[in-house]
Amino acid sequence: MLNDLKSFAYTADEEDTLKKFRNYFHFPQLNGKPVLYFTGNSLGLQPVQTNSYVKKELEKWAEYGVEGHFKTDKPWFDYHKHLKNGLCHLTGALPDEVTAMNALSVNLQLLLVSFYRPKGRKTKIMMEAGAFPSDQYAIESQLKWHNLEVEKNIIELHPRQGEKTLRTEDIIAKIHEHRNELALIMLGGVNYYTGQYFDIGTITQKAQSVGVCCGWDLAHAIGNVPLKLHEWDVDFAVWCSYKYLNSGPGGVGGAFVHQKHHQSDLIRLAGWWGYDEKTRFQMKKGFLPEKSVDAWQLSNAPILPLAAHLASLQMFLEADIYKLREKSEKLTNFLAQVIHEVNQEINAEIEIITPQNTAERGCQLSLVFKKNGKKVFEGLQNQNIIADWREPDVIRLAPVPLYNSFVDIMKFGEILKQVIINLN
Ligand SMILES: *Cc1c(COP(=O)(O)O)cnc(C)c1O
Repeated sequence: MLNDLKSFAYTADEEDTLKKFRNYFHFPQLNGKPVLYFTGNSLGLQPVQTNSYVKKELEKWAEYGVEGHFKTDKPWFDYHKHLKNGLCHLTGALPDEVTAMNALSVNLQLLLVSFYRPKGRKTKIMMEAGAFPSDQYAIESQLKWHNLEVEKNIIELHPRQGEKTLRTEDIIAKIHEHRNELALIMLGGVNYYTGQYFDIGTITQKAQSVGVCCGWDLAHAIGNVPLKLHEWDVDFAVWCSYKYLNSGPGGVGGAFVHQKHHQSDLIRLAGWWGYDEKTRFQMKKGFLPEKSVDAWQLSNAPILPLAAHLASLQMFLEADIYKLREKSEKLTNFLAQVIHEVNQEINAEIEIITPQNTAERGCQLSLVFKKNGKKVFEGLQNQNIIADWREPDVIRLAPVPLYNSFVDIMKFGEILKQVIINLN
């Protein structure tokens, strides 16, 4: 019974070694009361210390003007390098492989320019059916850029009949089947809709064993599950920082390019900030790239968003992504249990389409309601629960280990039950 889960929730929160981090965030208020916030997968909450990090850069700007680029603590000239430590921790990358720059879709386009090089029969891109729209449009536009027919050159991965998520074995088989026509595989690390977490290492390895590059959109993976991009030999990856990384709306994105590609003569779109750092200000003719992922930087870096990003990354370093993942698994398992109880008690017919296996999911659970989905969602909103509705019929919930608690989930279950009862 839901009631029996109550004491478990209170005890679990008390024993939680990461509980202090909840106090490091601002919780929004609705109707004069703090909300139950389950949309860290869409926009992470604001860390309290973000304000002072951003303020510091504003003050440097006021005090030093242009000299802030070189003559201050953390000069702006290479400010982005202070973020590498946190990003390495989250992605399992070497410092040269990872950087904060631009925004996700921009980085995706930039890296597709370098890594999607159709040649002869090998022109096709494999991706998930129903991938995040920006990924679909990016790939569509790349095909057009190369004068290739969109329809004929995208191979979509579909779940089996009657299933909602993809099986690794089926992805592997499909890669094998199309090995002679594939130029690139581009997948989301954690699917935004279903919450499925893919086996990035195994899929990347299979792709490379048939000579195909493999890139990952980690928007829903970074800060959610620990990653080992270097060890998994991932060719390239991109992400945004405003979801699980709590770095603010439209915050600066990130990119990973494996070390093995740094010395190669990959084609890239270039700008002055990707130029060799030591000689950049000689302003010479002829592009000389940095020998790292920083070569893909185009413009001088946006310091205010980077400061917000840094504030949040420092917290991940303090908390440790592996410990966060441990708590996250417990939180999400608890959420699944609470939903199961609601189903049992009032026959709510809620289906969880996210994989049951903990290794195949992160924080998020995606719920499909057999009836009244949108009304249930609105009912939850009226009760100060912030969740997320995705057409046609999914409510996504992401209990985030940095600031969500077991009691949050418990309360959610009680409210959900009442909302459904009131609708019947
Ligand atoms: C959130 C998200 C994006 C957003 O892209 P932006 O360029 O940051 O607007 C892209 N892809 C996926 C898979 C996402 O989840």
